[in-house]
Amino acid sequence: MDYSKMQPESLMMSYGYKPSLSEGAIKCPIFQTSTFVFNTAMEGKRFFELAYGLREKEQGEELGLIYSRLNNPDLEILENRLCLWDGAEDCAVFESGMSAISTAMMEFMEPGDLLLYSRPVYGGTDHFINHFLKKMKIESIGFHAIDTKEEIIARIDATGKGDRLTMIHIETPANPTNALIDIEMCAEIKTHFTTAEKPVILSVDNTYMGPIWQHPLKHGADLVLYSATKYIGGHSDVIAGACLGSKALMGRVKGLRTFLGNMAGPWTGWLLMRSLETLKVRMDQQATTAKYVAEYLRNHPKVEKVYYLGFINEVGNEREKEIFNRQYTSAGAMIAFDIKGGEKEAFQFLDSLKLIKLAVSLGGTESLAEHPQTMTHADVPAEDKRVMFISEKLVRVSVGVEHYSDLIADIEQALNRI
Ligand SMILES: *Cc1c(COP(=O)(O)O)cnc(C)c1O
Repeated sequence: MDYSKMQPESLMMSYGYKPSLSEGAIKCPIFQTSTFVFNTAMEGKRFFELAYGLREKEQGEELGLIYSRLNNPDLEILENRLCLWDGAEDCAVFESGMSAISTAMMEFMEPGDLLLYSRPVYGGTDHFINHFLKKMKIESIGFHAIDTKEEIIARIDATGKGDRLTMIHIETPANPTNALIDIEMCAEIKTHFTTAEKPVILSVDNTYMGPIWQHPLKHGADLVLYSATKYIGGHSDVIAGACLGSKALMGRVKGLRTFLGNMAGPWTGWLLMRSLETLKVRMDQQATTAKYVAEYLRNHPKVEKVYYLGFINEVGNEREKEIFNRQYTSAGAMIAFDIKGGEKEAFQFLDSLKLIKLAVSLGGTESLAEHPQTMTHADVPAEDKRVMFISEKLVRVSVGVEHYSDLIADIEQALNRI
């Protein structure tokens, strides 16, 4: 059997784990241990030489287990499995999506550098960029999904700091209205500003569509970032994050992770491995169910507009259609819609839901609904809200694995209460 030819979902139960090393247990145990016993002092010395980069790995040599801040079987096996979905060389798992994002940004930027990012990004990322990075003298410049490559390059040139552009960070589709950003266009901007002395790193927060429906590395991204709290964890019971990329870049990310100490613990690693076994079936089902829900919403007289990628080929412009068909293999399971009215009507709807829970977060097995304007996007500047159609009448729904007819019945009775 050639494992390298198999689909990732076939390997999520076994890849990277040897039962014979764990008393024959079919599942990888939770290695709830802080440190690992060396067989000999010489072995310990050789492990540390690799861990601290004091020498190169010999042919076939792997880093041995040292201490759970550096490595742990639950993390290493999980990281190897996550690599399969994105076609990445290496992966680092973190205790939250925010620690994955902030660690990557801190590793690849220094004072005086410029960051280009799509707006709006996740609230925590936005805060990190506009408060912490600013304090570290790292400036940033934003762009919207509607901006063209020429406009963005002109805006960077106008700052006079194009030579200090070191990182481009994007989220696509943009939360909450599913605006599409062209990863290949961003890779071209990256190439435009890359020089021999200064590479530009393109990172994509793939939380909304990954790791099943969008694979940013294949479109020219250098790093893929996840809040594994969302689809990867998928059960709304764990906070975690991941960063994936080439061996060289991930060596740097893992180096900083070792010294910040924000790696995930073994229990988190074990939970995520369990989640990965059902990732494909969960996400496929969520996408199928979302289509029914979106169709229902579109035809409801109390709904003004539905923001759902499955409608792009009907209602999108040429650019949107082209990006969608090139970059995505599914319309996903995130839907936003404008209710006729404003905050009052939106709140009446949200307060009347029974099966669908009123909560932020997304990607879990249970469906969730929220009000971006006053909740997840409360902090977003008015200009971004206007461009992104984030208004008082907007509701965001993350579709779970419930039967579509029950979700629709819940939505129907809640819309009737308005
Ligand atoms: C939730 C989320 C994050 C932050 O992840 P945490 O696991 O909560 O730290 C980052 N980006 C996106 C797009 C998210 O949805």
